[in-house]
This record gives sequence, structure tokens and C-alpha cells, in this order.
Amino acid sequence: KSGFVTLVGRPNVGKSTLMNRLIGQKIAITSKKPQTTRNRIQTVYTSEKGQIVFVDTPGIHKAKNKLGEYMVRVAERTFDEVDVILWLVEPTTFIGAGEQHIARQLAGARVPVILVINKTDSVKKEEILKAIDAYRKILDFAEIVPASALKGDNTDTIIDVIYQYL
Ligand code: GDP
Ligand code: MG
Repeated sequence: KSGFVTLVGRPNVGKSTLMNRLIGQKIAITSKKPQTTRNRIQTVYTSEKGQIVFVDTPGIHKAKNKLGEYMVRVAERTFDEVDVILWLVEPTTFIGAGEQHIARQLAGARVPVILVINKTDSVKKEEILKAIDAYRKILDFAEIVPASALKGDNTDTIIDVIYQYL
């Protein structure tokens, strides 16, 4: 099995950290500053099961300038070119305009959307369960996987779930 997977989500949710974790080495640039990733970075994960090409995106957000508009277009165009979409969010029940915007974009996707509720190390378990319930209501996800990209919690499950949909 092999295929292309993209990581989408608002800036700072941990997309680059997750990709680095999954690949096992630092390739994408991570930073506390939004917009560190300005274009797509692709990395290849190889195991006995096959190959997964991860396409990192600059993140979807409300563009405030030309560079921002370009970055949003790069991310959105990626949806038509991949086999699986991973949407990363923070473990909160507050679903703001940014998330609603992404949900609308992903509602038209023709491929499975897997929601990764990242940063589970930073909240209590009940908050994670509440976040799962809240997100379930806004989009029909193929799977919802809580994980911590920083600590590596449940990141193996993300790989397993991706292979299920390739
Ligand atoms: P991106 O903009 O979505 O690519 O986000 P980054 O990967 O650059 O991460 C943004 C910030 O969130 C960095 O300070 C990361 O260390 C932090 N971060 C990422 N994943 C986690 C996580 O699982 N738990 C915690 N506590 N922090 C995280
Ligand atoms: Mg990034």
C-alpha cells in the first residue's frame, strides 16, 4: 500500500511537529510563530506495509495579505491531490471561525478526512472526550484520533489508520 497524505489545520496546531514525529526525524521547520511553513514540504514514510508521502501545508487561515492568500491556495489545492486528509486541531470544544472555514473546505473533499485531536498531553481526558463530541457534529470524519505529536502518544495509531484508508 502507498499513497499521499496531507496535514491541514490552523497555524500552530502542531502539523510540522506531527510530521517530524511520524517520520522520525526533523525535516519540516517547526516554530511557535505562525506561517513558518511557507510552501509544501513532502516527506516519505516507509515501512514493511508500504510508503506514505506526507505533504505538509502552510496551514489554512484567513488571509491578511498576498502571501497569506497564496499559502491558503497551496493548502486548498493539495486536497485534490492526496488519498487521505489529516486535519489537526487542538483539544478544545471551542470551534471558532477558523475551524468552521476548514470544515467547509473539507466537506467537499472526495477522500477520507481523519481528525487528529493533537496536544492531548496539555489537557484532561474529559476535555478530549468533549472535543471529540464537538468535532463530530461539524464534519463526517472517517476516524477521530486523539494524540500528542510532542510526546508521541498515539502517533502509531495515526499511521495504522492511514494505512487502513490507502
Ligand atoms: P504548525 O504551525 O501547525 O506546523 O505547528 P508546529 O508544529 O510548528 O507547532 C506549534 C507549537 O505547538 C510548537 O511550540 C510545538 O512545540 C507545539 N506543539 C506541537 N504539538 C504539540 C503537542 O502534542 N503537545 C504540546 N503540548 N505542544 C505541541
Ligand atoms: Mg508548520
